[in-house]
Amino acid sequence: MTTILITNDDGIHSRGLEVLQKTLAILGRVVTVAPDRDNSAIAHALTMNRPLCLTRRAEDVFTLDGTPTDCVAIALSKVLDAPPDLLVSGINNGANIGDDISYSGTVSAAIEGTMYSVPSMAVSLVGTPPFSFAAAGPIVRDLAGRILDYGLPADTLMNVNIPQQRPIKGLRVTRQGRRIWKQAVQEVHDPWGRLRFWIGGGTPLLDAGKDTDVDAVHNGYVSVTPIHLDLTNHEGISYFREDLDLESWLLPPTGDSETGE
Ligand SMILES: [Mg+2]
Repeated sequence: MTTILITNDDGIHSRGLEVLQKTLAILGRVVTVAPDRDNSAIAHALTMNRPLCLTRRAEDVFTLDGTPTDCVAIALSKVLDAPPDLLVSGINNGANIGDDISYSGTVSAAIEGTMYSVPSMAVSLVGTPPFSFAAAGPIVRDLAGRILDYGLPADTLMNVNIPQQRPIKGLRVTRQGRRIWKQAVQEVHDPWGRLRFWIGGGTPLLDAGKDTDVDAVHNGYVSVTPIHLDLTNHEGISYFREDLDLESWLLPPTGDSETGE
C-alpha cells in the first residue's frame, strides 16, 4: 500500500495540513507528523539540545514539540516501519519562492526527506490571509500522483507554489528567482518604552527574471521548481582554483611538509 508522510511548518492546526490530509487520502495511507505549533521561518533547524515528545492525536496523526525537520527525522526512524513512498510538506500559508526557500521550514522538511532518499514535495499557497485552499487540493493531488508514478531525479525535491487568484493560468516549470525583503526590521517599543526590533513585514525586492518561480506566480501560474540538495556553484570551482589560485595558496614549502607523508 502506498504510504504518504505529511508535515508542515505552520503546525498541526493549520488548514493547509488538513487539506493535504484529505486530498492525499485517495492516493494511499496518509501519516501525519507535524509540529505542535507554528515553526514558520525556522529553516532546517534540528533540535539537539533537549529531548522531543511525540504525541499520538489519532490514528496515523502525531504531533512533535519540535521543528519540521525533527518531524521528518522522527517519522522516518520511529513512526513508520518502512520509508514512505512520498513526503509532502505544506500547504504553507504564504509563498516559498526565491530567497524564501533558505528560510522556509516547509521546504526544509522536504529537503530532509530528500536527504533520506524519500521523494519529497513542498507546497505553498501564494498570497496573504485569508487563504483559500480550494484550487490547491486537486493540483497537489495530481502532482503527488505524478511523483508516485514517475519518481523524482536524485537528490531533488519538487517545490510547488500555487497562486490563489482565479483563474489559474496554467503551470510553469521554473528556476529559483530572488526575493529579498527590504526594510524587514521594524522598530517597536515594549510596554516600558524600550526600543526593540521586530523582524517581519517590509517590501519584497523582486528579481523576477524569465523562467523564475517569482515570475510564474506573479503572472498567475503554478510554479514547480526542481530544487537540488547540492548548493555548490559549479562554475565557482574553477574561479576558486584558477582565478583565486586557492589550492596552491596554503601549500607547505617543498620538502618542508609537517604531515610526514
Ligand atoms: Mg509557514
